[in-house]
Amino acid sequence: MALSDRLPRYRRVGRALGRCAGVCALLVATAPFAAAHAGPFSPPGLYDPAVYRLANGLQVVLRPRTGARSVAIRAVVGVGTSSYPCREQEVPHLLEHLLFSGTSSHSEEELDALISSHGGSWNAFTDDWETTYQVDIFSGNAALGVETLHEILTDTQISEDAIAVSRDVVIHEDGGAPGFGVAVLDALGLWESAHDRALARLDRPRTSACKPQGIASDVTRDEIEAAYHRYYVPANMTLVVVGDFDLDAMRATIARTFGRMPDAPFVAEPKEPLPPHPGAIALRGFASDASIGFLFRTGGYASPESWALRVLEPYLDQRLYQVLTVERGLTYDPEVRYSADPDVGWFEISAVVDSPDIELVRSLIAAELDRIRDRTVDLDALEKARDGLLLTYAQGIESNADVADYYVSSLFELEDRGRFVDEEEVLQSLRPESILEAGAKAFAADRTVSLRDRRLYTTEILAGSLLAVGGAAIYVPWRLVRRRRRRRGTVKT
Ligand SMILES: [Zn+2]
Repeated sequence: MALSDRLPRYRRVGRALGRCAGVCALLVATAPFAAAHAGPFSPPGLYDPAVYRLANGLQVVLRPRTGARSVAIRAVVGVGTSSYPCREQEVPHLLEHLLFSGTSSHSEEELDALISSHGGSWNAFTDDWETTYQVDIFSGNAALGVETLHEILTDTQISEDAIAVSRDVVIHEDGGAPGFGVAVLDALGLWESAHDRALARLDRPRTSACKPQGIASDVTRDEIEAAYHRYYVPANMTLVVVGDFDLDAMRATIARTFGRMPDAPFVAEPKEPLPPHPGAIALRGFASDASIGFLFRTGGYASPESWALRVLEPYLDQRLYQVLTVERGLTYDPEVRYSADPDVGWFEISAVVDSPDIELVRSLIAAELDRIRDRTVDLDALEKARDGLLLTYAQGIESNADVADYYVSSLFELEDRGRFVDEEEVLQSLRPESILEAGAKAFAADRTVSLRDRRLYTTEILAGSLLAVGGAAIYVPWRLVRRRRRRRGTVKT
C-alpha cells in the first residue's frame, strides 16, 4: 500500500505561499503561456500554467516542462480534518487510505505493481482543509498515471475488511488510541504547552483546539460513504500535472478520464469564524524543555502583510541569533517561525532557556519587537533579509514535483485572484518602510501572547509516581496492622 501520511497542522511554511487579498474570480479558461514570466529568481513560466475547468466543474492546472523525464500528477479534493467536528475528524483521513485499497479492476497489490513497474510512485496526505493524492511517474507513462489516479478516485470498492485494515493503520499513524495515563495527564493539562494553550484560545475550534481529538475507531462506514459522495465531486477537485508531456495529448487524456465524472452540485461550507482575540495575555504550560516566547495571530498567506512577515521571519531570526546566542550565549538557537493558512497566520518567537535567564531573554526579545513597533530597525538589514529570501527562492523550486506541489499549495490564489501570483515580483517591490509598517501592526503590544513553558520532568514524574505507589504499598498495610493492634489494646483495657 502506498505510504500515506497525515501532515501536521500549519505545514505551509516556506516557499509555497500566498499572498494578496483580491476579488474572487473563478476561472473558466486562461490562455496558457501568453505572457510567460521569466524573472531571475524562479523557473521560467512558473506563474503561467494553463488553467481551465472541465464541463463537469473540475479545475485543471497544466504546466509542460522539459529537462527531466518525469511527470508529477496531483489530485486535490477540498476536504480535510477541519471539515468535521472533533469526534469525526478522522473521516477524510480514513477515506484517503481506503481509496488505495483496491478497485473493481485491480487489487491494492496490483495497483501498486502497476505504478511501480511503470517507473512511478504514489502517496497521499490529509491536512486541515484538503486531501491530496500524488503520482510521480516516468514521462512516457504520464497517461497511465492519470488513468490510474482517476480509477482510484472513482472506482474504489470499500469493503468491511478494507475499513478494518485502514482503521488500524490510521490509529497506528496517529500514535495509537490514547491510554488511560495519557488521558489523565491530558485532562490535568500536564501534556499541554503554552503554544497549544494559546492556539486553543486563538484558533478555530475544529483545528488545533479540538478536544478530545477524534480517533479512527470513532468513524462509521456511513460517515465514510457520506463523505465520499459529498466531497469527491468534480466541482470540489483540482488536477495538477507538471512535467514532460504534450499539452494536447494530456488534455485529451484528462477529458476521457476525469472529464467523464458525472457533474454534481457542490457548495462549500463557510469556515468557522476565528474566536475574538483575547488581547495581551500570558500563558504557561509544560514541554520537554523550559522556554519562553511570543505568539502573534496575524494575517494568513492571502493577506497583504504576509509578504512583510515573510521578510521579518529571517530578519528576526538573524537578529535574535546575534543578540541572544552570539553576544550573550543565553540560548543555543532561538526560533522564529511564520506559518499560515490562507486566511490566518501565526508568527512565533521562542527560545529554550535556563530558568535564571528567563526574564533577561524575554526582555531582549521584547526589545527587538519594540524596535519594529517604534520603526527604529536598520532598514538595510531588512533589505538584506528580503534579498536573501529572493535568492533562496531561486533554489526552492526545481523538480516537476516541486512545481506541482507549489501549485497545490497556492490554489487559493486561483480562487481569490484567478491566477498565480508572481511572488518574486511582489517581494522585489516591497520597500523596507512598508515591511516595518506591517510588522508594527502585526506585533501590536495589545495583541501579544507571551508564552512560557516549564520543563515537564517526565522521567522524574514516572519515578516519583512509582516511589509513591511503592511507599503506599508499604505504608497502608502497616497503618492497618497498627490500628488493629491499638483497637485490640483498647478492648483489653
Ligand atoms: Zn495516513
